[in-house]
Amino acid sequence: MSKPRCTFCGKSQKDAACLIAGDGVWICDVCVGVCNDILEERLLETPLRAPADTDLGRIEAHIRASVPGQHGAVRQLAAIVYNQHARARAAAAGKPVADDHANVFLTGPIGSGKTLAVRAAAEAADLPLAIVDAASFVVRRHQPDRDPMEALVHAARKIRTSAHYAILLVDNAHALLTPPTADGSIRHGQQKLLPILNGTATVDPKEACDSRRVLVVCCGTFPGLASLDDLTAIGFLPEFAAHFGVLCRFEPLPASELRALLTKENGLLADCARLFEREGVELRFSTEVVDGVVREAERLGTGTRGLRCVMDNLAIAVSMSFDARPPEGPFEVGSSLLHTGPGAPED
Ligand SMILES: [Zn+2]
Repeated sequence: MSKPRCTFCGKSQKDAACLIAGDGVWICDVCVGVCNDILEERLLETPLRAPADTDLGRIEAHIRASVPGQHGAVRQLAAIVYNQHARARAAAAGKPVADDHANVFLTGPIGSGKTLAVRAAAEAADLPLAIVDAASFVVRRHQPDRDPMEALVHAARKIRTSAHYAILLVDNAHALLTPPTADGSIRHGQQKLLPILNGTATVDPKEACDSRRVLVVCCGTFPGLASLDDLTAIGFLPEFAAHFGVLCRFEPLPASELRALLTKENGLLADCARLFEREGVELRFSTEVVDGVVREAERLGTGTRGLRCVMDNLAIAVSMSFDARPPEGPFEVGSSLLHTGPGAPED
């Protein structure tokens, strides 16, 4: 049998960094790169597709599958994203669609599921989603930040739909309140977003994409924000605040939701038990320990993140309590282990 050579360019195994074998053929790393470029070009020429058909109920159900609680807020978010979806579908069908729409302020504590909810909504509505960190607009870095419009077009290309009706999630939106400095070492983050909100930001002449119809969701904790009228009072520019018409508020997860996340099928307790099953240990959690985990997560006040953190520490404490080797038979996890893991409160 002859020595393998790239079927496309004839390079031998010795000259190529990598040869990939197929059924009686080979391709080298360089040719794979060339093919990728061609593929990207060709894909750009294929017509964009309209978002797949869906309805409000399905979008809401999809969000609920990944975000616990937040009943009214999830419904509100589903309706907003469904509206954007309907506009995208109408535009793709050649129907007239007004550009006007209200952008969203999404507030709520850390770990209440804000980002997850927007992700799930965009996925269910088959709309492109780009997530940018507001802090990157504010603090000057060595590298220029990624342009949000470019991020949108990139997200749209990935799912072969138009970027016109994309969703831009601005995470850590409180960074936009950082006052700019005269020497330019700290920029005005809101100024970076204004062209997008005004609909004048453009990118990619090929697609002639502008930002008039992009749905902007500013996401942050903003604990005191009770109404959009307060945006200017906390430091947002009037011309920035004017583009936001919907306030969607996520609440801290109540103890009942935290408990459900622990005890449901394939919940966090089951996760933890599976971890030990591999070592042949059957974990059993007492009611006191479940109560204790919920209380501790409530104290941390960071929702699902806090809950995970408490469970991780508990798992470590359980492992450490085994001394040299795992016990025979079932192991009852007692609440005494709750505060012995690393990161447990000192007091
Ligand atoms: Zn080759």
